[in-house]
Amino acid sequence: MDHDANDALHPDTLAVHAGRADLEELGVHALPIDLSTTNPLTDIDSGGESYERLAGGGSLAEGASPVYQRLWNPTTARYEEALATLEGADAAVAFSSGMAAITAVIMAAAQEGKRHVVALRPIYGGTDYILAKQLLGTTTTYVTSVDEISAAITDETGIVIAETPANPTLELTSLDELVAAAGSVPLAIDNTFATPVLQQPLSHGAAFSIHSATKYIGGHGDVLGGIVATDDAWATRIRGIRALTGALSHPLASYLSHRGLSTLPLRVRQQQANAQALADALVAMPGVEKRHVPRARRVRRQGSRGHTDVRTGLDDGHRRRLVRARGSRGPVDQALHPRGVARRRRQPGAAPGLAHPPPGRRRGQAERRRAAALDRARER
Ligand SMILES: *Cc1c(COP(=O)(O)O)cnc(C)c1O
Repeated sequence: MDHDANDALHPDTLAVHAGRADLEELGVHALPIDLSTTNPLTDIDSGGESYERLAGGGSLAEGASPVYQRLWNPTTARYEEALATLEGADAAVAFSSGMAAITAVIMAAAQEGKRHVVALRPIYGGTDYILAKQLLGTTTTYVTSVDEISAAITDETGIVIAETPANPTLELTSLDELVAAAGSVPLAIDNTFATPVLQQPLSHGAAFSIHSATKYIGGHGDVLGGIVATDDAWATRIRGIRALTGALSHPLASYLSHRGLSTLPLRVRQQQANAQALADALVAMPGVEKRHVPRARRVRRQGSRGHTDVRTGLDDGHRRRLVRARGSRGPVDQALHPRGVARRRRQPGAAPGLAHPPPGRRRGQAERRRAAALDRARER
């Protein structure tokens, strides 16, 4: 898609149309799901050429065979085009999970021969863990403030990794300050929480914007996925890693994620509104220790959702009626995130319970019901 022509379109419009440029020509309205693992080769020579190109991370040449699903899939390619459009990126590469996407980014950076990582904490537990385990042959210096980043960078540093808003505390760090601190070292932003609706890290100078599509992009709790938005040169390296390691997004997952993008702006806006209302209702309750709602002005610029630490005593029966304990977020109902799920306990900010607001259906009513249910639960 012509990204310059997209500049004139409202992001909500882009969310509905991006990655669908060929549907008219195909004569279909909904996104087609292509499940072929193998594709016909017109002849051995051109098939071999296409194989070489795709295995090296190149994109599909005009009229060439995709050869094999691990190398290229049209359903996934449409979704990648759509996410790249929303992120204002050259390209995007979709993976089977957020962790697979993060792994490929770290591998791509390390492949350049620089095996040191600087990571800003707090950071998603899985990311923290894979770095701390040195599973990818990297070593990591952890910092807790943007001011410590430049001092932590050495000649061996291949990547700086940060999250803003951070999981789970919603700590905000200025993208411009992160880019300045990383200097010439590529900066990877885990943009799962903000989504491209609220911030586009590449427009600030980050090299990568990474998502666990499992959360807000999928949005309904029924698809696992990850995706990286980046420039063409990095996309080629990262696709090459995906072609060899095989952690690509399944076409059904790509379809669900792409479909999720169409309602992403609506869901994110409603979730923001519910977050504020729920946090306001909860903060007055006994047992609520802390609210994590970034200040409104920064929220508009950088985006975030609200969370509330609830030191429970909530009656289990009541809690289960509306607010279920979950290990993840993004679905359309309320979640309570128990301590230690998907995050390392020794990381700062891990709390006994974090309430995450859903998008809700009817504005106001759903929040009031949830707040009332929590009130009833508290009274027990
Ligand atoms: C969930 C999550 C991940 C990991 O994604 P998976 O799809 O579970 O592999 C990475 N980063 C953040 C911020 C997350 O919330």
